[in-house]
Amino acid sequence: MQTPESFSAPSADAPERTELLAPDAGGLARAVDLLRQGRLVAFPTETVYGLGGDARDSLAVARIYAAKGRPRFNPLIAHVSDMEMARGLGVFDARAEALAARFWPGPLTLVLPLAQGSGLSDLVTADLPTVALRMPAHPVARALIAAFGGPLAAPSANPSGRVSPTRAAHVMAGLSGRIAAVIDGGPCAVGVESTILGLFDETELLRPGGIAAEEIEAFTGPLVRPGHGPRPNAPGQLASHYATLAPIRLNASDTRPGEVRLGFGAGAADLNLSPQADLVEAAANLFHLLHEADRIAQGRPIAVAPIPDTGLGRAINDRLRRAAAPR
Ligand code: AMP
Ligand code: MG
Repeated sequence: MQTPESFSAPSADAPERTELLAPDAGGLARAVDLLRQGRLVAFPTETVYGLGGDARDSLAVARIYAAKGRPRFNPLIAHVSDMEMARGLGVFDARAEALAARFWPGPLTLVLPLAQGSGLSDLVTADLPTVALRMPAHPVARALIAAFGGPLAAPSANPSGRVSPTRAAHVMAGLSGRIAAVIDGGPCAVGVESTILGLFDETELLRPGGIAAEEIEAFTGPLVRPGHGPRPNAPGQLASHYATLAPIRLNASDTRPGEVRLGFGAGAADLNLSPQADLVEAAANLFHLLHEADRIAQGRPIAVAPIPDTGLGRAINDRLRRAAAPR
């Protein structure tokens, strides 16, 4: 089995020279330039350094998974600079508005119904009908998102399985050569991840974090504690959640009569995750093409070409196995 340390980006990706940017107008302008190209910029927040990419660009989001070496497509938090941006992404009821007014900007993430026409990549939501939103309090984070003019997907800026970074030097130590830039905003004040609340029928504490549950409960009343809610905390872990209607056959080196073929690399296929056999592109296309394959198949089996189990291929195969799980 591969360890997170041995995970590497697709070999086509030569290591890049990671720029260290100052948290001033020039540094932010450069960061915005890079983000608009779909590249990755780590930036300081009050919790930990985030690894930012355009949350509306599936290739950028796929690059986040590749750079971190994440073995799974868990949903990511979309970071916003203001309420107008937030309301374009999630559906805010009175409870959500009140929590945002009380705790934002700050280390609180709200999981809300996804807004119609949000424009978010389906890799950010992991294809769920909900979205996790946060408005960070760090002035550099807010200025960056505002200057970029759109939401940034930003998990912690460390290789998967390693400790979260609270200084630019930590980010450099873990991700130098794998991301375009780091904005050095000094040490993070909070140092632990945001508290995550799920605003479902009840208000659920999905992850303890930077704001104590007691402080939130003083405002909301009792929260449903982790593990006590009606659903598992990490929706991405649910084996059957991503199941297609059509049965799926994995590692299909041939196509049998009646099957719809979802290809990877060269060769005839009804749909292709990446004709160039590029794992980042395949990840960016994955959810959309699973939906498409299901639509075309009309219940016929879907044969999925073998995907190499290296780099992002591990996360792709993890998700394909879940989609193919018996139900
Ligand atoms: P990270 O960005 O690594 O700090 O992790 C994001 C956390 O938010 C993970 O624990 C996710 O499972 C959780 N999360 C993100 N989006 C959602 C969502 N739509 N529903 C439930 N949990 C979410
Ligand atoms: Mg993390």
